[in-house]
Amino acid sequence: MRRLKKLYEGKAKIVYETEDPNKVILFFKDTASAFDGVKRAEIKGKGEINNTISSILFEILERKGVRTHYVEKVSEREMLVWRAERFPVEVVVRNLAAGSIVKRIGIEEGTEFKRPLVEFFMKNDQLHDPMVCEDHIVLLGLAPEEAIPIMKETALKVNEILRDVFSKAGIKLVDFKLEFGRLPDGSVGVVDEITPDSMRLWDERTGEKLDKDRFRFDLGDLLEGYRKVLEGLQSP
Ligand code: UDP
Repeated sequence: MRRLKKLYEGKAKIVYETEDPNKVILFFKDTASAFDGVKRAEIKGKGEINNTISSILFEILERKGVRTHYVEKVSEREMLVWRAERFPVEVVVRNLAAGSIVKRIGIEEGTEFKRPLVEFFMKNDQLHDPMVCEDHIVLLGLAPEEAIPIMKETALKVNEILRDVFSKAGIKLVDFKLEFGRLPDGSVGVVDEITPDSMRLWDERTGEKLDKDRFRFDLGDLLEGYRKVLEGLQSP
């Protein structure tokens, strides 16, 4: 499938039209960005590795019956996906406390939750992605009401699947963010990407951070961490 007109350019990806009006191509850029785009860098090879990781994870989810926008990986940096009407909501699942929740509720980093915690955020850089509750989502019209339980249940199912996948690779799934949208067949599915840009992954043995926190807090070479994640996913 060839890419045609550019539809949208974000911080990490570009969306292109294709000959099929129901499908678009995601092009993974080499840009790393953090803190609402304030910190930015070009990291050669990041686009390719993120496309590969995201494709592997979407394929696993689809095999396990999770509805997603994924169609196929079409080249090193391009993924073909169903065109979706995205909801401006970020769904975060946490197994261990890290990142924003540590400051927000004064919990120690690494504290394990008794069961996975699900949070919703409004996708809005200017407002710094505020946390929202289910009523906010409905009353502000961020997503249709019937999509809320679907997003929550799907996020928890994805957590179970990915936790297992990463655990086999000796990696702890600390937290991750998913986005959802309405797919062309009317169903609600997972859209966007699933990469170490949108997850926290810690080496089980050493505690080393293998995700975007390396870039956020200058903890070491970003791609070295991402490569370890990919190797973990590719090892039998
Ligand atoms: N996350 C993301 N995009 C965002 C905000 C968060 O992909 O705009 C991911 C982040 O990488 C982490 C999880 O969601 O894996 C939880 O993020 P958190 O709320 O702790 O915010 P952060 O500390 O990343 O600002």
